[in-house]
Amino acid sequence: MDTVTVNDNCQSPADTAYEVKTRCTVEQIEALFDLPFNELIYRAQSVHRAHFDPNAVQLSTLLSIKTGGCPEDCGYCPQAARYNTGVDSQDTLSVAAVVAAARLAREKGATRFCMGAAWRGPKQRDLDQVIAMVQAVRGLGMETCATLGLLKEGQAEQLKAAGLDYYNHNIDTAPDFYGEIITTRTQRDRFDTLARVRAAGIHVCCGGIVGMGESRTSRAALIAQLANLDPYPESVPINNLVQVEGTPLHGIERLDLFEFVRTIACARIAMPKAMVRLSAGRRDMPEGIQALCFLAGANSIFYGEKLLTTGNPDVENDRALFARLGLRPMEPRGEERGEKREERGERGEGGGVS
Ligand code: SF4
Repeated sequence: MDTVTVNDNCQSPADTAYEVKTRCTVEQIEALFDLPFNELIYRAQSVHRAHFDPNAVQLSTLLSIKTGGCPEDCGYCPQAARYNTGVDSQDTLSVAAVVAAARLAREKGATRFCMGAAWRGPKQRDLDQVIAMVQAVRGLGMETCATLGLLKEGQAEQLKAAGLDYYNHNIDTAPDFYGEIITTRTQRDRFDTLARVRAAGIHVCCGGIVGMGESRTSRAALIAQLANLDPYPESVPINNLVQVEGTPLHGIERLDLFEFVRTIACARIAMPKAMVRLSAGRRDMPEGIQALCFLAGANSIFYGEKLLTTGNPDVENDRALFARLGLRPMEPRGEERGEKREERGERGEGGGVS
């Protein structure tokens, strides 16, 4: 296979509002994975620079606003109440604490502030608190993102009205591998929430996790599934499993990090205009692998995850790496896709997906 082509061969399941088109088949993505490494990276970088400034990387900061005690059974997650991981259930943070963290993140250069809660989904009183947080963080001039679990009818509209820019909701893994990792919800539940987010006019942040024992075909299926969402997500986090003792996936064979770089490259080629985020697992990656991920088209990272601890060594390490690679932080995105392209380091419509 030489190219991944965009076609109109639409196959949309009748029972979801989030249309899935067949732009990329699993076989096409798998053929990309099978390319010689240099060839794949060259193609990914070519696609990347047709749409983005290759030296600008978006910095996002993630804050857990409600940690632990989650009723779901995601096999990778230390926050699931049923696993003995040493993560205790904590109360939801106050709005004041969240605003303080956001202000600190902004001072350190972050432009997007993500708020995550370990819920199956928010109850109305939870949502009311999150709405106050979103309004306050927006008031600081930062982009806002939330990841709160499954949303019920009407909840996405409330978040949109509060000014939420992005909702993160990952599809986790390939459809045929999903049941191996999570049994308390289906992937279809995830698509229903994504449809609500999209219908409310909130940008979609949606990716998955690799290194969970899946096959290369499953990794290709994950990327194809994301790319075939119509439209595909504006933001695509690619996570490498962080193995935590006490979770079912602790101790499995680790993914070859070159295979992780390949996954980033395939995501970039299949979703040329998405922000591809090098997410969980980055801390454990040698800097050379991180540099390869940027070369393969990753243009977003989580930054300063330990902002509330003294010294911020993570931030300093990232700054030093950026300096060595000649990378610079990307400016905030505009309100809408296509707006202020020059301000966010994004290029015009030129370029293809080959
Ligand atoms: S829903 Fe989220 S917080 Fe809960 S177990 Fe799954 S990944 Fe962890």
